[in-house]
Amino acid sequence: MDERALLELELLPVARLYALHREGAPAVSAPAAAAGQPSAADADWEQLRALVAGCRACGLCEQRKQAVLGVGAPDADWLFVGEGPGADEDEQGEPFVGQAGRLLDSMLAAIGCKRGREVYIANVVKCRPPGNRTPTPQEAAACAPFLDRQVALVAPKLIVALGKSAATRLLGTEASLASLRGRVHRYRGIPVVVTYHPAYLLRSLPEKAKAWEDLVFARRTLSERLSSMP
Ligand code: URA
Repeated sequence: MDERALLELELLPVARLYALHREGAPAVSAPAAAAGQPSAADADWEQLRALVAGCRACGLCEQRKQAVLGVGAPDADWLFVGEGPGADEDEQGEPFVGQAGRLLDSMLAAIGCKRGREVYIANVVKCRPPGNRTPTPQEAAACAPFLDRQVALVAPKLIVALGKSAATRLLGTEASLASLRGRVHRYRGIPVVVTYHPAYLLRSLPEKAKAWEDLVFARRTLSERLSSMP
């Protein structure tokens, strides 16, 4: 696809992040293309952190204090994917450190996990959407190479999609969260279980029981996978 077509589709930054488009010069928004660094697809953790910190692939970079890559064990069995940083995360540079984060930590404790140990936590977008709005599909697409690389580097045994943005991004469907729960989906061959976002659970206490069911289901799915592995 030529540069103009990519620009019209708002896909040029994405193509450059994936190193699918190296020609042409101006309007470089992907740091990889600008600095001769590796693309996100080839980056190690340090390079990925630098790429994310300097990323200008979408408008979210304009108002961020800092980009938020992720936190946790780099070879964790579990990968939890949220939506995007809020004000606290933008301030502190770590995902899920606000009120929703405290609930996520309790959810992790319920399945015997602890932040920084058996789990890696990431978001669909790495920069705070203003006013904590839902990231647009273009913003999610611009950030996709980063999440994809995190998935490749962590190589988790199971992914938990927290809320609609994560489910849509990973499963490529606009189906409702309710319809996606309770089944094992796949992302790049890795099992994915869908549950409610902790921020939603803070507003809808009755759904907490359903989230608990989802986590039990996720834990059973992971145990089955681990016991069937050589
Ligand atoms: N909500 C998210 O989806 N991610 C965070 O990091 C914080 C709140």
